[in-house]
Amino acid sequence: MRIVLLGAPGSGKGTQATRLSERYGIPQIATGDLLREARAAGSELGRRAKEAMDAGRLVSDDIVLGIIRERLSRSDADQGFILDGFPRNTTQAQALDTLLEKIEQPLDAALLLDIDPDTLIRRLTGRLTCPQCARVYNIYTHAPKLDNQCDCDGTQLVHRSDDNESTIEKRLQVFATYTHPLIAFYSKQKKLLTVDAEGTIDEITRRIRKALEPFTRTRKRSN
Ligand SMILES: [Zn+2]
Repeated sequence: MRIVLLGAPGSGKGTQATRLSERYGIPQIATGDLLREARAAGSELGRRAKEAMDAGRLVSDDIVLGIIRERLSRSDADQGFILDGFPRNTTQAQALDTLLEKIEQPLDAALLLDIDPDTLIRRLTGRLTCPQCARVYNIYTHAPKLDNQCDCDGTQLVHRSDDNESTIEKRLQVFATYTHPLIAFYSKQKKLLTVDAEGTIDEITRRIRKALEPFTRTRKRSN
């Protein structure tokens, strides 16, 4: 199963990607991590990525695509992948299609975790973390038993400074701006799967699995 994952900050995308990766035995490929890895590994592409990043430039699409191509050639991606963080615009989406055609691994679907912005703001602004054990709470959806104290160790919980409303609105705005054309792009290809991302993590996982069912069946048949 080969999918691109689209979801706003706070949509639970990371958690769901991890679950999908475990369930279907395919790697979760986050381009941010991939770039850091390539830099650390010191490959030719990694070196070029480092140069761009050190100079404060964006890493070019060519380099990112090259690194994605290298990653997909590893054996753990034989059964597919979950791509997270790329593409971010339709030019990149087109280039990705071209690459995937070339290596005969066309995309099955673009999975959009769809959630109302007001709900997202509530989720994100309500977040509290424990500096001791890193547990995450939410005053709206998953409050600690005692006000502002970690259930496990009683440590005073903290609110991250970038979890304030205006920062979050800005992040959501950026997300909406780049995602809108991508939604249109994949929708036109009839590859867009929209999943309602409100509710509990388990509920969302169930919806995603259901949406992805057609692709798991195809894979079993062809094996
Ligand atoms: Zn704690």
